[in-house]
Amino acid sequence: MTTWQVATVTGATMETPTARSIWLSVPGFPGASAGQHIDIRLTAPDGYSASRSYSLSDVREGDTVAVSVEELDDGEVSPFLVRDLEIGEQVEIAGPIGGHFVWSPTSPGTARPIQLVAGGSGIAPLMAMVRLRETAAPDATFRLLYSARSPEHVYYRDEFAALAAHRRLPVDWFYTRSAPPDSTRPPGRITHEEFLASVIPVENHPLIYLCGANEFVEMLGEWLVDAGYPTTSIRIERYLAA
Ligand SMILES: Cc1cc2nc3c(=O)[nH]c(=O)nc-3n(C[C@H](O)[C@H](O)[C@H](O)COP(=O)(O)OP(=O)(O)OC[C@H]3O[C@@H](n4cnc5c(N)ncnc54)[C@H](O)[C@@H]3O)c2cc1C
Repeated sequence: MTTWQVATVTGATMETPTARSIWLSVPGFPGASAGQHIDIRLTAPDGYSASRSYSLSDVREGDTVAVSVEELDDGEVSPFLVRDLEIGEQVEIAGPIGGHFVWSPTSPGTARPIQLVAGGSGIAPLMAMVRLRETAAPDATFRLLYSARSPEHVYYRDEFAALAAHRRLPVDWFYTRSAPPDSTRPPGRITHEEFLASVIPVENHPLIYLCGANEFVEMLGEWLVDAGYPTTSIRIERYLAA
């Protein structure tokens, strides 16, 4: 049976015109690993309730965690979380959930290079890993491939700029709908060739985390396997719609 806990919204910021990070304080929360998610349940005054899964985008604080939510125009839960939920209000949460799609600074294989691959809001759990690495394992080798609709749709822009300034995280950017003016690559979905040229080569034995919409991660996962990356080195989180 799912155990629900009350969480209080302690902070919120718009990451993009359509996405918002929300910080939740959960007294007694056991803490979470980077990559895990929680379920958030909303209940209306008439008793109707709806719950959805959201990856944790920050797990450094123990009993205060963050989620980052992309608003779907015709969605039931995400528009409320992005537009209406106010600081000080409460929701219910269950979790943390998930044991495979996690990165820990102390787990075996930590010495392997880590390739993170995000499509859209799939950046959320990968950011939890990046943030944790900065505090707990600064020597771990990370590389990120991030596919977003446009530069305006990139989450955590200030943090990425700071990481770039300190040469802490090589990032390969791909824009599907509009690219920055100085970009030499026209906007469009990442191709097979571009993808394999961007990820850490198979001979360096990377551990690869793919997160995003189902079709995006399935396609990239197949490309990796076809290129000889062992399935045991590929971890996938799929954002299936409810
Ligand atoms: C493990 C996991 C982690 C996730 N993490 C994140 C995250 O970090 N950030 C994030 O933004 N999202 C995340 N998601 C997705 C999230 O759980 C929700 O699916 C998303 O927010 C949409 O919820 P919604 O209620 O707004 O939309 P919904 O009302 O669930 O609708 C979703 C889509 O399905 C369509 N739809 C709804 N009902 C039907 C139907 N009966 N027939 C056909 N189509 C229908 C809608 O038109 C809409 O486009 C995650 C999902 C999973 C499984």
